[in-house]
Amino acid sequence: MSADRPISELFAQRRPVRSLEFFPPKDEAGLANLHAAATALKHISPDFVSVTYGAGGSTRERTAQACAMLRRDFGYTVMPHLTCVGHSRAELHDVADRLHAEGYRNVMTLRGDPPKGETTFVPYLDGLRYGSDLVALLKARHGDFCLGVGGYPEKHPEASNAELDLDNLKRKVDAGAAFVTTQLFFDNAAYYRFVERCRARGITVPIVPGIMPVLSLKQVKRFTEMCGASLPAQLVTRLEAAAEIPDVVEIIGVDWALDQIRGLLANGAPGYHLYIMNRAKSALAMAAGLAA
Ligand SMILES: Cc1cc2nc3c(=O)[nH]c(=O)nc-3n(C[C@H](O)[C@H](O)[C@H](O)COP(=O)(O)OP(=O)(O)OC[C@H]3O[C@@H](n4cnc5c(N)ncnc54)[C@H](O)[C@@H]3O)c2cc1C
Repeated sequence: MSADRPISELFAQRRPVRSLEFFPPKDEAGLANLHAAATALKHISPDFVSVTYGAGGSTRERTAQACAMLRRDFGYTVMPHLTCVGHSRAELHDVADRLHAEGYRNVMTLRGDPPKGETTFVPYLDGLRYGSDLVALLKARHGDFCLGVGGYPEKHPEASNAELDLDNLKRKVDAGAAFVTTQLFFDNAAYYRFVERCRARGITVPIVPGIMPVLSLKQVKRFTEMCGASLPAQLVTRLEAAAEIPDVVEIIGVDWALDQIRGLLANGAPGYHLYIMNRAKSALAMAAGLAA
């Protein structure tokens, strides 16, 4: 298996760099959705795609399977996600070696959220506590890994203040992260302020905005409560007005996301990362809206 090209090279050569995020499907129907979404999004020729990493053993296997499928069936450069949750250092070394042997060179490197039912993150026995620890472990194990890390324009929900959160982001970059992908946000002003504060703090790597087309008001409220992103009143009013008709809600979500992306690119963002939630329909609408 030939080794993937580091994504950092793409950022150096080309703008915008476009990426998509999928989650590993649970069953055959989910796999069909993922396939359909990946097919629809081929029209925008993504530079790479990523696959999230869950908390349990079986979902982790599905991440590996989805990564392999996206490579094999679509020829995509695939960036697996990896978290510290439930892994000892020795296991993380094994995962790192397997990914490296399979030719993956790009990894989205995260602490992870506490597993369902738990509210605080507890490091596994002989495991790691922070995303920066995982960056350091992966870089020490394979120096040619190109690592992305998460950034939080509206602050990570556990951080006591935005300045400390920024210090912690700097730790991840200083440990060797090559780029930052942001948590989703719906107001571009939050991203612009964040980038400005990162630059003032000496964080110089590309900061890629993470954008999610809203699928339903219920879903977006759940996500924003979890991750601390704010919901602009105008978006809420539009979604509420259309609440009874899911197809219209989806159109509003896609329109909002397209507006965000156009604004971000016009204002110098290095690209965008689409949290597409394996949804073929909104994927297709996004692809059509973004087709040059
Ligand atoms: C692009 C992206 C992709 C994601 N993909 C996944 C996924 O696939 N699977 C998944 O489970 N989750 C995923 N998440 C969610 C992520 O795991 C959570 O947001 C998690 O709560 C934090 O992960 P992190 O790597 O950013 O944590 P960290 O960078 O470790 O930060 C976590 C908290 O600890 C604080 N902190 C960090 N370092 C220190 C320190 N040295 N001392 C004191 N405090 C510190 C930070 O300020 C923050 O409040 C993703 C998030 C993003 C933005």
